[in-house]
Amino acid sequence: MKRKLEGQVAIVTGASSGIGAGVAKALAAEGAAVVVNYSSSPDKAEKVLQEIKAAGGSAITVKADVSSEPEVLAMFAETLKTYGTVDILINNAGLQKDNKFHEMSLDEWNRVIGINLTGQFLCAREAIKEFLRRGVVPEKSKAAGKIICMSSVHEVIPWAGHANYAASKGGVMMLMKSIAQEYAPLKIRVNSIGPGAIRTPINHAAWQTPESYNQLLKLIPSKRIGEAEDIGGAAVWLASDDSDYVNGITLFVDGGMLLYPGFEDNG
Ligand code: NAD
Repeated sequence: MKRKLEGQVAIVTGASSGIGAGVAKALAAEGAAVVVNYSSSPDKAEKVLQEIKAAGGSAITVKADVSSEPEVLAMFAETLKTYGTVDILINNAGLQKDNKFHEMSLDEWNRVIGINLTGQFLCAREAIKEFLRRGVVPEKSKAAGKIICMSSVHEVIPWAGHANYAASKGGVMMLMKSIAQEYAPLKIRVNSIGPGAIRTPINHAAWQTPESYNQLLKLIPSKRIGEAEDIGGAAVWLASDDSDYVNGITLFVDGGMLLYPGFEDNG
């Protein structure tokens, strides 16, 4: 049986760890050639590359800081040089720089917005240029290209002590919807995934002790933390023709975190 992403090329930003690594491996398992982007950990990116290759997939690693325009342009140039085109962009790279709002420095604000929001703008713009140049290749996909933005439940849930992060994800939501609206007539699909709590380095404090894990579970009706594989499955679906009529949505993968837990036994 033909795999869902056979013959397609995917760039996954921030793919050296956590959700990005999980998504890179899931896309490769469905036949995509994967660009494993990293900004600071070549050894971890190499490990992801080797895992993909050991499973029979194709991948390269490319260093680029997604908040730097020249580095993003160079990443796309290297992708096109190696694989000829790009069909799927997973806009995943992101970070937190938490602080009380009244103590938040402009550097903490700018760094989070620069990577989480401006980084998604730069990568999406370059992907769209290539999708427009190439158009639909029917034997590969019904779409001319697919972009999946890694957002968060915090595109809708306010988050005290994380105003820069929540603002970046709220921005990602409207960036995603605006691009989806602009390019839907040209058969380009743009969607987001909104993870809840996924077990990765970004939030290790929330799951590393039994006490913090039990506290976290109060927010999750499904009563387990999510794993990178949970996001990998969602990314494959959104990148494949199985979701061809889906455009401009956020697919929340959150174990029910958006169901307002706490209300279930409240009267
Ligand atoms: P992570 O820290 O494991 O991964 C983040 C990745 O982004 C790392 O590989 C890091 O090197 C990379 N990165 C950071 N700055 C970069 C830059 N300037 N250029 C390129 N890469 C850069 O954390 P994660 O949980 O896997 O996070 C991935 C995405 O998922 C982020 O956008 C995050 O906001 C989002 N998310 C995570 C959770 C969760 O619970 N883990 C929940 C909601 C959303």
